[in-house]
Amino acid sequence: MNVLGKVLLALLPDDLESIFKFALLFVVVPALVIAVIFAGPITAFEKVPLITAEQAKFYINAAEKVKKEFNMGPDWRELVAIDAVRFKQDFSKADPEGAYKLASMFVKNIGEVVTENGLHFPVYKLLSLDEVLNMLDFTEEEKDKVKEFLEFLKNADLSFLLDAASGVPEGWVPAEKNLKWPVPGIYTITSPFGPRIDPVYGVERFHSGVDIGAPAGTPVVAALDGEVAYAGWNDGYGLVVFIWHNNNLETRYAHLSSIAVKQRQVVRAGDVIGYVGSTGKSTGPHLHFEVRVGGRAVNPLDLFK
Ligand SMILES: [Zn+2]
Repeated sequence: MNVLGKVLLALLPDDLESIFKFALLFVVVPALVIAVIFAGPITAFEKVPLITAEQAKFYINAAEKVKKEFNMGPDWRELVAIDAVRFKQDFSKADPEGAYKLASMFVKNIGEVVTENGLHFPVYKLLSLDEVLNMLDFTEEEKDKVKEFLEFLKNADLSFLLDAASGVPEGWVPAEKNLKWPVPGIYTITSPFGPRIDPVYGVERFHSGVDIGAPAGTPVVAALDGEVAYAGWNDGYGLVVFIWHNNNLETRYAHLSSIAVKQRQVVRAGDVIGYVGSTGKSTGPHLHFEVRVGGRAVNPLDLFK
């Protein structure tokens, strides 16, 4: 595909891709040919990272993971700008491991503190973009290019990329027509349903629910009338409540700090069943909310449209 085509695709959500591929063929390609003949090379596009929303997610997730690990980390746009230069715009070379490796270069171990009882804690410092570029042996010219890309990324409207990361647009509110939202009033999706980079192990896994970011202790309610199938500890889920409903439907509420119901208890939609926590395989307080139909996990957000 031509450069302009890639740029346009890079700036569009994935689902619009096919419509635009069609338009590109008949509108943009001839226009580009004319532009190149009459106007010469279009230098502006050299400043636009030719990255798709899917590839950008590697960098968004990597920056987030480093921030969770060290309580500090780079801006994901810095990572994209660096790799636009390193890969000479060929982002097919990007992958989650590479993005994470790059992101962790921004965090440097600068020593340790030893507590009175002899415990050692490492101390980290966040490096500047220039310090990282020096570590990567970038030339002055390459450094300038990185800054040009960064400039573009900081001024562009990239909200759709962040939407892609959370799965919902900013300010999204669930429609509670059939189910009650399990964390009343808190609609922050920190991780969507589907394939993702596992926040604990850093490898790609299928995320069987949605993560709703909420402070520890926030009440969690049953999404539907039903009967508690299980309430207790379950490995990766930590403290969890499974509720059976009609029509082969099951909902799961994981990583709770405490549980407010017992097995076999009948609950109504909206009843408090537990409280948000970070038990089990979790990197911070949130509710992992899962919906299963006939045993198979489905995207819970589809039921709140
Ligand atoms: Zn989860």
